[in-house]
Amino acid sequence: MNDQAQTQTPARGEVRCCIVGGGPAGMMLGYLLARAGVPVMVLEKHGDFLRDFRGDTIHPSTLELMHELGLLEDFLKLPHQEARQLAGQVGDTLINIADFSYLPTHCKFIALMPQWDFLNFLAERGRRLPAFALRTEAEATALIREGGRVAGVRAQTPQGPLEIHCDLVVAADGRHSAMRKDAGLEVMELGAPIDVLWMRLRRRADDPEQTLGRFDVGRIMVMINRGDYWQCAFVIRKGGYQEIRERGLDAFREEIAGLMPYLRERLHELRDWDDVKLLTVTVDRLRRWQMPGLLCIGDCAHAMSPIGGVGINLAIQDAVAAANLLAKPLLDGAPSYDLLRGLQERREWPTRMTQAVQILVQNKVISRVLASQGRPAPPWPLRLLGRWPLLQRLPARLVGLGIRPEHVQSPAAG
Ligand SMILES: Cc1cc2nc3c(=O)[nH]c(=O)nc-3n(C[C@H](O)[C@H](O)[C@H](O)COP(=O)(O)OP(=O)(O)OC[C@H]3O[C@@H](n4cnc5c(N)ncnc54)[C@H](O)[C@@H]3O)c2cc1C
Repeated sequence: MNDQAQTQTPARGEVRCCIVGGGPAGMMLGYLLARAGVPVMVLEKHGDFLRDFRGDTIHPSTLELMHELGLLEDFLKLPHQEARQLAGQVGDTLINIADFSYLPTHCKFIALMPQWDFLNFLAERGRRLPAFALRTEAEATALIREGGRVAGVRAQTPQGPLEIHCDLVVAADGRHSAMRKDAGLEVMELGAPIDVLWMRLRRRADDPEQTLGRFDVGRIMVMINRGDYWQCAFVIRKGGYQEIRERGLDAFREEIAGLMPYLRERLHELRDWDDVKLLTVTVDRLRRWQMPGLLCIGDCAHAMSPIGGVGINLAIQDAVAAANLLAKPLLDGAPSYDLLRGLQERREWPTRMTQAVQILVQNKVISRVLASQGRPAPPWPLRLLGRWPLLQRLPARLVGLGIRPEHVQSPAAG
């Protein structure tokens, strides 16, 4: 099968697995299944991967998977920055939070790379595999049901409607998944008291190097070093965006300058509110990640908070676990419901633990700083990390590797 080769509905049996969504979860699973020889089709509603502010972090665990797949060397030739430590500044106190240099991985850093480069890389490697097909501008609209199970997907393309009949549909269509809605799977909302405003500001050669979280009176900003620019995340209380807009762009620029005085002379780069993107934060989880013929992975199964920047990591871990579990069975036919349930059994615990830590940080640290009227003091866990650098290995493991990191066990077709 070739990329975009068919504009018509493929014949029954031609596609074994249809993956809805070409994000990190969908593209990684598509690559792994095709590598194992499973005929797979990924549907992506957009025409390309060029979307900004989707999280540009490639964690050591993902880099380790790239090593296991023999892709690491070529992957690291793509332009990227390397964050070996994460730091936070609370008031005037600068504290190192995570030190990745002790991780038992080939890469002891987070690679900062535009997500479209990562997805394009996977797509390009996928295209080399005869079992891989990617259909862009293909928006899945509904599940096809036959005999009490999901048996395929209906999609819209510029060339007209498309129907894909297959043994398994994987919904990897993100936090606003149309597939999980159509399936009627129950979503548990876990609550997020924050939203994030993303923006870019020029980075000068004499700026600090470090990717940094800055906490001060009622304000939090995270600055990610992207070479010639800073990707800045300004954290606000949920629903507070309208109020910020009403105060005006000058007042907003002043808030940023108050946090990071050296950015002041660059703040004219925020010309209007179009230069500031609101990203609504959601934390949720499906009660059941599967039904006969359908499996949900990534943000579709569990939307993550941006805290720790681990959403992409978890999405990819789901994809690897799903390929480990399903690649061989899919070569023989439709996987049973019990087999599909195995993915939730493996990945739910790491997801729950990670979300629990994120919610703790949201409620105990972030919300308190946003509500504070005076200069915040570093909370005790941060003070401990500052005093005992050895402890910085713990957040490094949590952020860099995650809980229960997966390894590639799915086969490579001969
Ligand atoms: C403010 C914010 C900042 C974040 N920052 C980070 C970060 O720095 N690092 C990090 O690791 N994570 C971050 N995250 C989380 C991260 O973006 C997600 O966890 C991750 O992208 C999930 O990957 P996914 O493949 O499951 O879904 P997505 O990345 O959402 O991909 C889903 C794909 O499906 C496509 N799609 C949707 N519907 C359809 C359809 N009907 N038909 C076909 N295609 C469809 C979409 O176009 C998209 O390409 C952040 C999240 C937020 C909200």
